[in-house]
Amino acid sequence: MTQDQSPIVLCNTCRVTPEEKTDEAGDDIVVCPSCGQSDKADEVGREVLRSAFHETVRRTSGPDTRPSANSFVSMSVKGPKSRSFRWIAGT
Ligand SMILES: [Zn+2]
Repeated sequence: MTQDQSPIVLCNTCRVTPEEKTDEAGDDIVVCPSCGQSDKADEVGREVLRSAFHETVRRTSGPDTRPSANSFVSMSVKGPKSRSFRWIAGT
């Protein structure tokens, strides 16, 4: 196992570290001890990468540096899908 390389995972709802378990099929799963949501470890890993990338893009292209051409539509496009992530990368 390469645990050193895995990012720290947090439940996006509770901001707590989920527990790693194994389901009946023998698959690695991740379970939030607070809200109880669970997902396959593979899926969680992908989602964390996606949310981390999304967060990076959001920070590097923040509202102040947004091209002015987009300013007139910013109200309708702001807050893309950041809330849809169930799992995020911790620090
Ligand atoms: Zn949770």
